[in-house]
Amino acid sequence: MFARLTNYLSSIHIIQSMTILGDMGEKQAILKLMETFDPDGQMLIGDDCAMVDLGKEYLLATTDMINQRTHIPEGTRGWLIGWYVTAINLSDIASMGGFPLGMLFALGLPSDMDIDFLDDISKGIDDCCKAHGARVLGGDTKENDTISITGTALGLVGKNDIMKRSGAKPGDIVFLTGELGSQLGWYKTKAELDIESLLRVQPRVREGQMLAQSGAVTSCIDLSDGLSTSVHHLKRSGKIGFELDMESIPFIGGLSDEDRQKCLHLGGEFELLFTADPNKLGSIPSTGLAGTKVTPIGRVVDDNIVHISSGSQHITLEDKGYEHFRGR
Ligand SMILES: [Mg+2]
Repeated sequence: MFARLTNYLSSIHIIQSMTILGDMGEKQAILKLMETFDPDGQMLIGDDCAMVDLGKEYLLATTDMINQRTHIPEGTRGWLIGWYVTAINLSDIASMGGFPLGMLFALGLPSDMDIDFLDDISKGIDDCCKAHGARVLGGDTKENDTISITGTALGLVGKNDIMKRSGAKPGDIVFLTGELGSQLGWYKTKAELDIESLLRVQPRVREGQMLAQSGAVTSCIDLSDGLSTSVHHLKRSGKIGFELDMESIPFIGGLSDEDRQKCLHLGGEFELLFTADPNKLGSIPSTGLAGTKVTPIGRVVDDNIVHISSGSQHITLEDKGYEHFRGR
């Protein structure tokens, strides 16, 4: 009886002390993983790609996974799935100014998938690779209950050119490529029509290379989890703060004020957010990069803050971008 009671009490203890990923969120889960992989903090984890020192250059390596439940709306065509998983990986190479070398893919696929659908996925992968100077180097296929695809991208960047999340200094100007809001339609309507703009991501590969070679950029990140989350990443990496100007942030046309506020935290935009030395702005063409406009949206400050001003109002921009495991 006593033994049974002890077992019962210890099982209660286990239930009470268990922390699940849904409570922690993705960021805390990654920190927990790094306690094992990098107990001394030597790996300098925290940039968009891992870097391998090759002498005059760095080999960049990054991996990103999509799965049917969280990334692929019902009715998405195969080509778009292939394009999307390729583009989001290349976006990380772009944010560090890299030249893509090639990609590897691990495909988890249901056994009842139509072979023509898989053919479409492969064409989307191939088209996105070719559009950005990459090619498929290899991969793996396995049976899975739902579609799950992991891409791995490799790239090269000169040591003098590389753009990292750290490096911004007070007084630097903050810029954004393109405009925000292309994803909002799907989030609002969940309509099949809007899947195209949700997943037809354009990784800013050429733009990233031009920025890296301009000599003006002091830090850079892509917006995979939303503008607010990316600004906070730069703040933590650079130990600096930001003052952004809401009126300067470029949005697609036809958005209400409420929509614009939502777009500040919307994941999946994949534009580049970067800081630049105000004395070297002449090397960033005011007409844009490779046809993509570049807009100043604020400045780097000495304080440990992220403020966004709108008219006479100055409010804190909280880190409220997308976080996996919490589903937001
Ligand atoms: Mg990224």
